[in-house]
Amino acid sequence: MSTQTAWPTGVIARYLTVGGATVDLTHRLTVHNPPKPFATLASCAGCPATEEVSHYRTNWGSEEHNPEAADADARIWAQSHAETCRALPKPTA
Ligand SMILES: [Zn+2]
Repeated sequence: MSTQTAWPTGVIARYLTVGGATVDLTHRLTVHNPPKPFATLASCAGCPATEEVSHYRTNWGSEEHNPEAADADARIWAQSHAETCRALPKPTA
């Protein structure tokens, strides 16, 4: 999709806020080689708000790796933040 080529590398989802900024979802990567995603990060370009959701979650005492659930939680946060954030995007220098 050529319309998505303007997205920064690694952005898996982008939400437009009511203020005209964007909330980007990216995966945080480990420093291992090859890097492996360990969390999903939602970050607002208009204000300092961020939300990091770990791909590892404890469920009934055992740790499970669930990146899809982390993505889903991050999307919910990004969606609700986009609906309320009125910060304008930072001017690009
Ligand atoms: Zn914001």
